[in-house]
Order: sequence, then C-alpha cells, then structure tokens
Amino acid sequence: MTQLDPLESAGLADSVRAAGLKVTAPRLAVLGMLQHAPHSSAEEVFAGVRNELPGTSVQAVYGVLAAFTFAGLVRRIDPASSPALFECRVGDNHHHILCVRCGDLKDVDCVIGAAPCLTPSDTSGFTVYAAEVTFTGLCEPCQKQLVLEGSADQ
Ligand SMILES: [Zn+2]
Ligand SMILES: [Zn+2]
Repeated sequence: MTQLDPLESAGLADSVRAAGLKVTAPRLAVLGMLQHAPHSSAEEVFAGVRNELPGTSVQAVYGVLAAFTFAGLVRRIDPASSPALFECRVGDNHHHILCVRCGDLKDVDCVIGAAPCLTPSDTSGFTVYAAEVTFTGLCEPCQKQLVLEGSADQ
C-alpha cells in the first residue's frame, strides 16, 4: 500500500482541480497510483488503491479513469489483445512498445521533433493532431528467456 505524503497529495489535488474535476479521495488515490505505476490496467489500479479505499470497487475505479481520460488528465492506451492501460503522461504524443510474450509496455519518445512525429502519406483531407503508434516485439528478459529455453532443448 502506498500512503501519499501531504506534499504529493496536494500536488495531485491541484492536478485534479486543474482538469476541472472535483477533488475526491478515490480520484486522489487513483491518480497517485498511476503516477507510481504508469501503464496500469483498471484492475491493477484497483489492486493498488483498495487498501487505501476500503469501500471502493473496480467499477468505481473504471468511473474515475473514464472521467480522467475525458478530462485529458490521463491517457488511455488500448494495446491489441490486452486490457486498456492508463498513464498520466499526456499531451506529448509519445508512443509505446509492447512485448508480445509477457505484455510489458514501455514508453517510446518521439524521435523526430514535436507532435505529430509521423507524417502520413495520405490524410484524406484531415488535419492531423497526433500520432499514436504501438510497436510490438520481444522485451529483453523475454529474449533471454527464449535463449535459455532454446539451449535447454539441446
Ligand atoms: Zn516480455
Ligand atoms: Zn506511455
């Protein structure tokens, strides 16, 4: 269980207020959890805040995350074949890389200047605001694991 220190709690309350939302205990707990553990699913956030908020439910956490996403305080990522993930790092148009074996997800910074860092060949007349790319591959621990498993076969 992560108990928030008063200074951190005040910072979280400011962020919630700045997003135009009312400050509530569940909102502070959920935001605090996401700052410590970016790219968490609603279930993971719930597991992280349930001790702090004994009366809360997964549904309540989903509600808080939806309100945060709508207010632009939190970014929702929908990787293929895994639950939606949430993070506090918004507005910088960064991308993600996903391990296809263990589901580990990491941030990938834009490499070519400001957002959007990808130029589509045809936008069908759209004005592009952002680009969201999920790279897939194998993380380092999984690569090592596969090498170990491969050598055990021989
Ligand atoms: Zn992996
Ligand atoms: Zn991210």
